[in-house]
Amino acid sequence: MTGNSLDPHLNRYARRTEGMRASAIRALFAVASRPEVVSLAGGMPYLNSLPLGMLGQDVNQLVAEEGLTALQYGSGQGILALREQICEVMALEGIQAHPDDVVVTVGSQMALDLVTRIFCDPGDVILAEAPSYVGALGTFAAYQAQVVHVAMDADGLIPEALTAAIASCRAAGRRIKLLYTIPNFHNPAGVTLSDERRGVIARICRDEGITLLEDNPYGLLGFDDAVHRAIRADDPDNVIYLGSFSKTFAPGLRVGWVLAPHAVREKLVLANEAATLNPPVLNQMIVSRYLATFDWMGQIKAYRQTYAERRDAILAALTEYMPAGTTWTTPQGGFYVWITLPEGFDSASMLARAVSARVAYVPGTAFYADQLGSRQLRLSYCFPTPERIEEGVRRLAGVLNGELDV
Ligand code: PMP
Repeated sequence: MTGNSLDPHLNRYARRTEGMRASAIRALFAVASRPEVVSLAGGMPYLNSLPLGMLGQDVNQLVAEEGLTALQYGSGQGILALREQICEVMALEGIQAHPDDVVVTVGSQMALDLVTRIFCDPGDVILAEAPSYVGALGTFAAYQAQVVHVAMDADGLIPEALTAAIASCRAAGRRIKLLYTIPNFHNPAGVTLSDERRGVIARICRDEGITLLEDNPYGLLGFDDAVHRAIRADDPDNVIYLGSFSKTFAPGLRVGWVLAPHAVREKLVLANEAATLNPPVLNQMIVSRYLATFDWMGQIKAYRQTYAERRDAILAALTEYMPAGTTWTTPQGGFYVWITLPEGFDSASMLARAVSARVAYVPGTAFYADQLGSRQLRLSYCFPTPERIEEGVRRLAGVLNGELDV
């Protein structure tokens, strides 16, 4: 008897639940968090260098001094002080924004949900890079939007591939709503959209009447300290920009944001209120105080250094241990390396053997809406130490070499 046949609600679920799939990553977390397993799977930020004692005192003080506000219901758009600070953060990427056009959300994941909710009817097309962020694919599927993937190379999304994808969707009579792109330190591909392509892609979207959704949680985590100019900076009317404090501060607080053209922003606030009433006030105040009182740019520099060392460790280990014919990207920031295995490998079916060999990764198929990616896999280098990273890659190479021997 299957679990389903025991479910008395089986015939009552909405059709949109058909697109909901268990996340390959979440399923892995339980196994991968066992101490003997080197997890190169989840993209968990390395929080150990946060000033926990100071943060604890700040939270105490916040509740003692401003508890009646911090613990109360709040604005569906988010607190003004934080929205002003968010504008300052975005200014680092060349964005000039007004706090009134910012909506605070429960992580940028909620922002993805709200944007899809207000733009997409079932069957509408969202163009997205091949591969693309698994959490966004999950949200798009939940709203029954159809993802059409667009090829990338080492310089990010390929403009000619975008034009071709638009033409073929239009020829098939399909309605395209959004282009979803992660320009910086892509999850999972580890590449960055070149500055030259940014304007080209923005222009294509504008000319074709497609809203560009720029998802940028990693933008400040570039290893050479350079910050790329956001696509939104040069196209405020057609770009919706998503930001997050998850990678630069703390994901557990679940504080992200959307910057949107004014009319879109109004709809987003209504959708935010319908979904959550308001983002948690205490968490917003914690972030706001952190930005106001702590050397947060110094903290980001420390993160960059930690992650750069780990990126170096993983690239060195890949070069040393991977079987011939394996290729990978060279991330200039962020958390991820994207691996392509030689012909004949299947990263999904190999995963159980890898976990037995005490190393975990995410199979490439998780990052495609159409089951491509069986020769690819994503490795995250953000959390384990350089020594553990080397050990993890060595174990992974052992599994691959074992497969070659069969
Ligand atoms: N977008 C991308 C590309 C991500 O990698 C993530 C987190 N892994 C998110 C959005 C969601 O981040 P959060 O909800 O924590 O802000």
